[in-house]
Parts: sequence; C-alpha cells; structure tokens
Amino acid sequence: MAFDSDAPLDQLWKEYGLVFRDFDDLTLGRWLAQTLGQLEGKSWRLSHPLVGAYRLAAQFGHDRQIWHKRLATPPAAYTESACCRAPLLPLLTRDVRESGLICQHCSETLVLFDELPGEVSVALTDWAAEYEPVHAVAHWDDRQRKSAGNYDRAYEQAAQQAERLLARAGKELALKLLEHYPAVIWEDQDECLEVRPEDVRP
Ligand SMILES: [Zn+2]
Repeated sequence: MAFDSDAPLDQLWKEYGLVFRDFDDLTLGRWLAQTLGQLEGKSWRLSHPLVGAYRLAAQFGHDRQIWHKRLATPPAAYTESACCRAPLLPLLTRDVRESGLICQHCSETLVLFDELPGEVSVALTDWAAEYEPVHAVAHWDDRQRKSAGNYDRAYEQAAQQAERLLARAGKELALKLLEHYPAVIWEDQDECLEVRPEDVRP
C-alpha cells in the first residue's frame, strides 16, 4: 500500500499528507530522523497513527531524496537500506513469501524472503502457508463458491481465521523480526476479507 490508488481512503491519506509537502527539506529530514527514534525498538501496527504519519512523510522524503542529501542523521540502529539508501524500516505483510519485507520509504522489497534470518524464515513460511488458503477464499471464483455450499459462511470463517493469523503476526512474528531490525511494522488488516485493525487483537 503506497497511498497511490484512487480508493476514497487513499485519497484521504493523500490529503493528510499535504502537511509534509510544506516542510522544507531540512525540517522534513529532521522530522523523519526524530520519529525513527520514537519508532525504534518496538513493533508497530500498520494502522498506528504515528506509523501512518511517518509513511506519508517518508514518501515525500523519498521523492525529494532526503536521505541522499544527508540533512539529518537517523538513529544509529537504522542501517542504510539497499533499495533506496533510506534507514532500514521493514513492513511485514501476508505476501512475505513472494515480496519479502517491504521498505517504508520506496515501497520496494527491502529484504528478500531468501535473505531473512533462518529461524525467522521458518516461522514466516509456516505462517504464510497457513494464511494463503485463508485469504484465497475472498478470491474464489463462482465454481469454488458454489462447491462450498454456503459461501457467506465460508467467507466469515476465513475472516475469523485471518483475524487470528494477523494477531499471531503481531504477537510472535513481528517480535522475532525485531531481534534483527531496529523497528518493525506489521500489517494488521485484510481488506479482501474485510478484517479491520480493530478486529485484530494480539
Ligand atoms: Zn527503499
């Protein structure tokens, strides 16, 4: 999610983000560096307002090449990412097996799945393998829906399983990742199954 779709919520986030457009480069760089200090050492829900604000500012920072200009120094724990040279801030999503961990600055892959530390990658493989068929229920075609009999019930069951799996991501997996990265963000919603952040309780 890069706030770049025409969906009403993404449009609203774009509007929120305008506040950062008026920051000059130095102010924006300092705001980002200081906020990284506040994010450090914890795992965060994607829906957390501070994370939302950081992601908006980070996009402007990326567009304006803030980190290349070295106007502000991020806390030392954040090493430079290979994708865009911004401080390393990963997002865990349900697509981790295909997309790896996602950079919060350029929205590209920050850490390939194959490059994840061993025990973390085992735990994430198990989790993602459980999540994939659950998520797929939202995308069943007509034939699959018919063969399920009561699709509404199958969808509701899948949504409840997704809530539990997302809760596990926040409770266990994000903490495992935190042993290797300065801060971690985890996706706490599934828009296809209509699971909202408030439904996910680690
Ligand atoms: Zn990047």
